[in-house]
Amino acid sequence: MNEILKKTAAEQSAALKNKEISATELTGAAFERIAQIDEKLGTFNSLTQDAAMETARKVDEKIARGEDLPLLAGVPLALKDNMNMTGSRTTASSKILENFVSPFNATVTEKLNANLVPIVGKANLDEFAMGSSNENSAFRKVYNPWDLNRVPGGSSGGSAVAVASCQSTLSLGSDTGGSIRLPASFCGIVGMKPTYGRVSRYGLIALASSLDQIGPFARTVEDAANLLTVISGHDEKDSTSLNLPFENYAAALNNDIKGMKVGVIKELMTEGLAPDVEKAMQRAIEDYKKLGAQIVEISLPNIKHSIGVYYILMTAESSSNLARFDGVKYGYRTPNATNLMEMYTKTRAQGFGPEVKRRIMLGTYALSSGYYDAYYKKAQQMRALVVQDFAEAFKKADVLIGVTCPNTAFEMGSKTADPLAMYLTDIATIGANLAGIPGISVPMGFDADGMPIGLQILAPQLQESRLMNAAHKFERANDYYTKRPQNV
Ligand code: GLN
Repeated sequence: MNEILKKTAAEQSAALKNKEISATELTGAAFERIAQIDEKLGTFNSLTQDAAMETARKVDEKIARGEDLPLLAGVPLALKDNMNMTGSRTTASSKILENFVSPFNATVTEKLNANLVPIVGKANLDEFAMGSSNENSAFRKVYNPWDLNRVPGGSSGGSAVAVASCQSTLSLGSDTGGSIRLPASFCGIVGMKPTYGRVSRYGLIALASSLDQIGPFARTVEDAANLLTVISGHDEKDSTSLNLPFENYAAALNNDIKGMKVGVIKELMTEGLAPDVEKAMQRAIEDYKKLGAQIVEISLPNIKHSIGVYYILMTAESSSNLARFDGVKYGYRTPNATNLMEMYTKTRAQGFGPEVKRRIMLGTYALSSGYYDAYYKKAQQMRALVVQDFAEAFKKADVLIGVTCPNTAFEMGSKTADPLAMYLTDIATIGANLAGIPGISVPMGFDADGMPIGLQILAPQLQESRLMNAAHKFERANDYYTKRPQNV
């Protein structure tokens, strides 16, 4: 592999500016790397080589003219394959969209294009972003580059693996219940979910609209902060996008965190932590003390209900969002139907995979008359309590810390027969989606098998700069972030 691919986006940007390498060489090197290892790792659903090389050429022309480059120009990036890019196949890793070619760009794609960020391809995911292991892709599984027998985490597994294995320097994922933070933690990189509404979701295939948010993957907090700056902002095409100014999120990274109140989430310290994960968490607390932070214990008494609440609200919203895939408007249509109703039912029966069907059934049930009050309405009320827990917590602490997941990446196939066990992997991440607050996962060490462990940091709504500052200081107190998988 060309050594430049192992560098951070910040270093690659500097190398481009100093003409140590051209943008076409850098993007070309990424495609060589992809050709070498994508088959082993299952990272990409499709490549967008022509568009990426065209963007890289534009960067080189700018450099030749001596013009300033926009932020992250020329740095190779992978897009989760549930985001639209004109002319690319956008499948959500589902058979129902297998041959769907985007007629338009998502707003994030537009923003990346405006900054001349080459998009190398569409990264594999769990079908419609439903899953925690990336074993639910209708096409092929994604493998963890640290151990090919283990899952990379999901649902943005391809996006995480692309960055962890240096096939791209950056990527975008979507996070409805942890789908950026969990795979970041399992793959030893940085993954960040912004405040709900911070990044436009126009052109993102919806899973659960009150929870979904797009966010960055990178190998350092600084790179993630810069990517967040590129994709943030108000968008009139997404009515949930916040009409508030955004910041340069890398500006505050080096602020002193002496006296910052770091709240340790009590409920995520006790039950079910793998021993090495618990040890890493204790070390992280000591690191924050050494950095001068004040450690306070925080309780989120309702966090234990978050999985139950999430699986009612998420299934309800997704069953409704998925109604649009009916064989009429987009994608697959069954070839053998004799009437309209048969066309609908056969198309959906043949096009959707088992996890998607499970969730449509659960969601339809939760929303059905007679059960609405018992499930959907109750879940909404519980959601309000989770939101309140966070509001109380942030009166006592500036940021909260805990594990991203109680365990490291598990073996392929070990949870596929037990959906409930799979759902429990999201115990630490779902709360941030229910409350709409930003969260980040940063590497905090390795277990005895050499598998990466993630630290999750949470901040109040719109406090991305504070979050990034707390994460960057922790990152630089250790060298975990410099480690790359050796097997691939
Ligand atoms: N693992 C969770 C789920 O299966 C989260 C998915 C996500 O954030 N997209 O729903």
